[in-house]
Amino acid sequence: MRGRIARAAARAGRSAGGIRLVAVSKTFPLAAVEAAARAGLADFGENRVQEAAGKIDESAGLPVRWHLIGHLQSNKARQAAGRFHWIHSVDSAKLLARLDRAADDAGTAPRLLVQVDLAGEAAKHGAPLDSVRRILDAAAATRAARVRGLMLMPPWNEDPEATRPFFRRLRELRDTLRAEGADDEALAELSMGMSHDFEVAIQEGATMVRVGTALFGRRSPQAAT
Ligand SMILES: *Cc1c(COP(=O)(O)O)cnc(C)c1O
Repeated sequence: MRGRIARAAARAGRSAGGIRLVAVSKTFPLAAVEAAARAGLADFGENRVQEAAGKIDESAGLPVRWHLIGHLQSNKARQAAGRFHWIHSVDSAKLLARLDRAADDAGTAPRLLVQVDLAGEAAKHGAPLDSVRRILDAAAATRAARVRGLMLMPPWNEDPEATRPFFRRLRELRDTLRAEGADDEALAELSMGMSHDFEVAIQEGATMVRVGTALFGRRSPQAAT
């Protein structure tokens, strides 16, 4: 996996050191995380707070960081802010404020990404394009949590080339927001790309790729994605 990341980075004229591999361990037991951690992986992604909480608590001795990559309901903000190092799914200024309050109370400093809904899929999760700037404005005033970039979960397509325009648009959105004066640090990361399309995402500027199946194998069909 690191080899494929390094080759994709080299093709794009980028350094592999600028790309973080988040191993998506959802539905897999802690033993799988322990084995991957022994093999040198340090970042793990989960999409459900409830499922992750047990694993995170049991993994307390492991040198790993936990990423929440799935939708976060605001009533779970407190649980999430106390456990995850990274939360990729902030989609409103209200959720941002809740997470910040919870992190402040818990004495944690989670780093947050704003999930952007580029496809206008109102039924899905992610902040509509026109609200991203408002969330970044609110981010300037957080006390404990820190916004560090953007995240994309594009519409599914088997063909990575069909997804490339979405990856490109997320990068262009980042560039536009920077040009408009948004804080550089708040836009440092682009979380995009999964097992079947991370190489294309890296070509388009991903700094975090979220890879499950290609590392751990297929998830059981009845498990939620
Ligand atoms: C499950 C999941 C992934 C990983 O998907 P794979 O195809 O198994 O690599 C990445 N991102 C999100 C948000 C996910 O829910």
